[in-house]
Amino acid sequence: VNPSVAASAWLARIPQAERIAAHRFTDARLVAWAMGGVLLISACWILSRRGVLGRLRKRLEAGRPRPWVTSALLAGVLALAVATVKAPYDAFAAAWLGSIATGARLGPGFAAHLKQSFAGVCPATLAAMLVIPPLHWLMRRAPRLWPALLGGALFALALAAWTPYALSLGPHLQPAPSGAVRDGLERLVIEAKLPVRDIYVSNDPNVDADVTGVFGRAQVVVGPELMAAPPAETRAFIAHIMGHYAHGDILAIFVIYGCFAVLAVFAAQKYAAPMARFMGARQVGGPADPEALPALLVVAVLSVAAAGLAEGAYLRWANVRADAYSLNHAREPDALAAVLEREWDHESVDPSPIETFLFYTHPPLEDRILHAMTWKAQHGG
Ligand SMILES: [Zn+2]
Repeated sequence: VNPSVAASAWLARIPQAERIAAHRFTDARLVAWAMGGVLLISACWILSRRGVLGRLRKRLEAGRPRPWVTSALLAGVLALAVATVKAPYDAFAAAWLGSIATGARLGPGFAAHLKQSFAGVCPATLAAMLVIPPLHWLMRRAPRLWPALLGGALFALALAAWTPYALSLGPHLQPAPSGAVRDGLERLVIEAKLPVRDIYVSNDPNVDADVTGVFGRAQVVVGPELMAAPPAETRAFIAHIMGHYAHGDILAIFVIYGCFAVLAVFAAQKYAAPMARFMGARQVGGPADPEALPALLVVAVLSVAAAGLAEGAYLRWANVRADAYSLNHAREPDALAAVLEREWDHESVDPSPIETFLFYTHPPLEDRILHAMTWKAQHGG
C-alpha cells in the first residue's frame, strides 16, 4: 500500500468538521500570539516614552537617593500597569480560542477567564517588588560580574528542576498488574535493552505515561487510560517515551533553558541601557537604572520567546527520533498511528510553516502518521 494513501485513510477517521475546527484554532492562535506580543511590548514602550517611571523616581528621590524604595516601587508600578493591560486581553484571547475549539459562545468563557486573569495581577506586582530590588542591588554591587553570577544561578536552577525526573521522584506507585499490557511492555524493555527496574501504574487521570531516571536506571509509569488501551497502542506510545529517555531529551530541554537564561542575562547587561534610551528614557546610564526596567522586561520577554522557539525546534526534531525509536523497537506502526490519533491535541493536522515554528513541539499529525506508514511500507507492510 502507498504510504500517503494509508496515512490519508488514518486522517480520514477524524471527522472533517473536527479537522477544520482544529485548523481554525491554530490560525486564531497565531493571531492571538502576535497581538499579545505587540500589546506587551507597546505597553513597555509607552510607559518608557511617557517618562512615567522617571517622574515617579524624581518624587521619591527628591531629598536623597533611596535605591531600594525606588527600585521596589518602580518595579511594582511597571508590573501593575503591564499586568492590568494584559489581563483583559489574555482573557479575551483564551475565551476566543476556547470558543473556536469547543464551538461554545464567547461571553460566559470571557467572564470566567477575566476573573482568572485579574487574579494574577496582584501576585505579579508583589513578585516584581520582591525580586527586582535585590537584582538591582546585585547589579550595583557587581556591575561587571553580575551576569556571570545570575546566569550561573539560573543555569543551576534549570538543572535542579531536572533532578525530580532524573531521580524518578513522585508519589508512591503500585507495580503494573500482570496481563497483556504488562507482558507487551516487558517484551519492549527487553527489545530496547533499557535498564528498567519496574513498570508502575498511576491512577492519576492527568498521567499519560512516563519513562524517568538517569544513568542506568529507568522507571516506566503507565497512566489509567493507556493501561486500559489496546496493548499494542500502549507499547507504541511507551516506546516513543522510552526514545526520549534513551536520547536524554529531557535533560537537553533543561540545558536549553539554562543556556537561554545565561544568554538573556548577558543580553540584558549589554542591551538594556541602549534599548531603554531608544524607548525614550534618555538619561538611563546602565541596566541597574530603575528607569531601564521596561527595557529589561522587553529583553526578558524576547528571551523567553526565543527559549520557547529553541525548545520547540529541538522537540520537533527529537519527536521524529522518538517516533523512529518506537517504530524500530515496538514495531507497531498501525498502533502508533492509532494512539497518535487518539492522543491528538486538536491543533491543525497540517499547519503553515510559521505556525509549526511557533507552536509545535511535535511534527504535525499528518507528518507523524505518514512517518509511521512509510516505516510500515518499508518493513513489508
Ligand atoms: Zn515525544
